[in-house]
Amino acid sequence: MIDRGYYGEFGGAYLPEILVATFDQLVEKFNEVKDDPDFWREYTDIMSTYSCRPTPLTFADNLTRHCGGARIFIKREDLNHTGAHKANNVMGQGLLVKRMGKTRVIAETGAGQHGVATATMAAKFGFACTIYMGEVDVQRQRPNVFWMERLGAEVVTVREGTRILKDAINESFRDWVTNMDTTHYVLGTTCGPHPFPEMVAYFQSIIGKEARRQILETENRLPSRIYACVGGGSNALGIFQAFLDDSVELVGVEAGGKGLSSGQHASRLSSEDASVGVAQGYKTYFLQDGDGQMKETHSVAAGLDYVGVSPILAYLAATGRVRFEAATDLEVVEALSLTIKKEGLIPALESAHAFVQAFKEAPTLDPSEIVIINQSGRGDKDIFTVADAFADPEWQEFIKKKAEDYDA
Ligand SMILES: *Cc1c(COP(=O)(O)O)cnc(C)c1O
Repeated sequence: MIDRGYYGEFGGAYLPEILVATFDQLVEKFNEVKDDPDFWREYTDIMSTYSCRPTPLTFADNLTRHCGGARIFIKREDLNHTGAHKANNVMGQGLLVKRMGKTRVIAETGAGQHGVATATMAAKFGFACTIYMGEVDVQRQRPNVFWMERLGAEVVTVREGTRILKDAINESFRDWVTNMDTTHYVLGTTCGPHPFPEMVAYFQSIIGKEARRQILETENRLPSRIYACVGGGSNALGIFQAFLDDSVELVGVEAGGKGLSSGQHASRLSSEDASVGVAQGYKTYFLQDGDGQMKETHSVAAGLDYVGVSPILAYLAATGRVRFEAATDLEVVEALSLTIKKEGLIPALESAHAFVQAFKEAPTLDPSEIVIINQSGRGDKDIFTVADAFADPEWQEFIKKKAEDYDA
């Protein structure tokens, strides 16, 4: 599928001359390890002793009964250390950094989850760590900034551009250009210039490898459909990859925000609002205007509001192998509520997008069929965002009281 980092017309590596040597080195190192069973063993070892792999595949018996139709299973990426699938990528890249003999890591972060995961990995492996974060996000995501700093990372507030994720990415590349010899840029998802989409998908493929084995072991059959939410695309590709050659329907769910017709969403592959372009070093669908200016996006889930999307998913959309849908903020909060009450699970707002689509479709399938939902992360650590989404008046009262206590 890969030819110099291209997936059909998507992907590539559009780099400033000065970064070419660094990317060549990274491609070379990655190619060295990716087919090395010892490297994969080292990776799975650390994921089982430091994170929580293999993560369980949980049968959601109550939701199955409630929806009627296909039996619903949930892949539990929420049980990873730091609460999401992001751990798979950062720990993998951390091992690669050790092999390259570098001593410092940098990363971009939007909602702060990838920043916290990278800072955690850096603490564990003893790397210096700088995280770039847009000023708007620093203000919105104080709890994650707090943890990154406790973990020993320097958090740099980016005041360029619109002061969000894409600006943090640009700033990370600027840092990398000046510190290439010592520093590795830990990109957070299956986007950006080659080899990042392939490399991040490689580390995340552990999700699907496990899920495939688990469902065959317990049910002796493959699922009919698999649902995953899509921000940059890493958790979706993580689970989808193991099933690409099977007759299993793969469904990616994007942020429908306030509805596709409102323009306030982040649906790149499930709406008509995005177009193909080159930005941030690669070619894919971007939410951009006619002049190539990036549009503002919206989602209740901070991890799903990126303007671009994985070139690998853009390709799988073009070939029809993956179907894309959108879930609105309102549907997401409803699905989250239902999952909490019925199963005692608290998915992240991002993950709840996948639940929305599964709940719509499970009733239309036969009870002998199986669907799997990838629960990319847990929501209880996002109490500020989740409580806002539920608009709970007593929570708001509690926050006001807390603020008054500080003033006193
Ligand atoms: C970051 C994040 C996402 C979105 O990123 P992908 O690369 O699309 O997986 C989804 N869910 C959770 C819980 C996240 O933290």
